[in-house]
Amino acid sequence: MKKSAVILAVVIGLSACGGSSGSVDTSVPVSVPDTALPAGGDRAVIVATNSVLQAFVQMVVGDTAEVLTVIPDGKDPHDFEPSAQDVAALNSADLVVQNGLDFEHGVEDSIETAEQAGVTVWTLTDHVTLIGEDPHVFTDPLTMAGALDALAAAVTALEGVSADVVSARSQLDAAASAAGTSINTLGAGKCRLITDHDALAYFAKRFGCTVAGAVIPSFSSAAEASAKDLEAVRMAAGSVKAIFMEEGAPDAVVRQVADELGIKLVELRIHALPADGSYVGYVKAIADLITAALS
Ligand SMILES: [Zn+2]
Repeated sequence: MKKSAVILAVVIGLSACGGSSGSVDTSVPVSVPDTALPAGGDRAVIVATNSVLQAFVQMVVGDTAEVLTVIPDGKDPHDFEPSAQDVAALNSADLVVQNGLDFEHGVEDSIETAEQAGVTVWTLTDHVTLIGEDPHVFTDPLTMAGALDALAAAVTALEGVSADVVSARSQLDAAASAAGTSINTLGAGKCRLITDHDALAYFAKRFGCTVAGAVIPSFSSAAEASAKDLEAVRMAAGSVKAIFMEEGAPDAVVRQVADELGIKLVELRIHALPADGSYVGYVKAIADLITAALS
């Protein structure tokens, strides 16, 4: 889709340069930048910044679009630096879907460049109810449901892409219900969470958990813990059974705190999809892991 648009633009450009004579100098080599295009046939290409967003978008568009991710499964999105190939994929996308609120900090410049070159960019956090400036909206399926209509409008603007909002909404409801059922088995007030950084506020609010503290009280794992922060965690740790850390995030300080307090450290796959690769499975996996760790 984008490829043909590029070819068309090149042809029009050459025709214009040909002037009133209408002749085109065919000796000029025309290179079409298609190296980043996947084997997706004629389908529109949507590039999400991370794998969880990729799964979310895929749930909405089904197989009517090719949906790619820049940040691979399980990589810390807060400090990921895109490769030249990632940058090319962003530049040739029919639509870029990003989280926003500085979540994918290292990719932002490349997205901005693509946008300036005419690529449409859709930002998740512009379309959901936020908790402060916290970017981790995707840990709550019902917060995500708030973005469905806006996402549908963005993707259906692409040729050949359709969006099944009704099905997506019912899948999100089912995911919320399953996650809630899992957490509820812990009993009232028992879902108390300490995380490596502030990543679970949306999840906690939705499912009645309490965030007792964070080793690094920042929305980014790239921040650093202060002595005061660690003291606050030590105070809160008496009431928790586990410290949860985002898989792939820097873990030295978190490990040290968990060791020192004799609390188990549990890796939570907040930035990785489960085996089934679905957003719904992702939500259930987080809930089940928290429930198992706190039981
Ligand atoms: Zn995070």
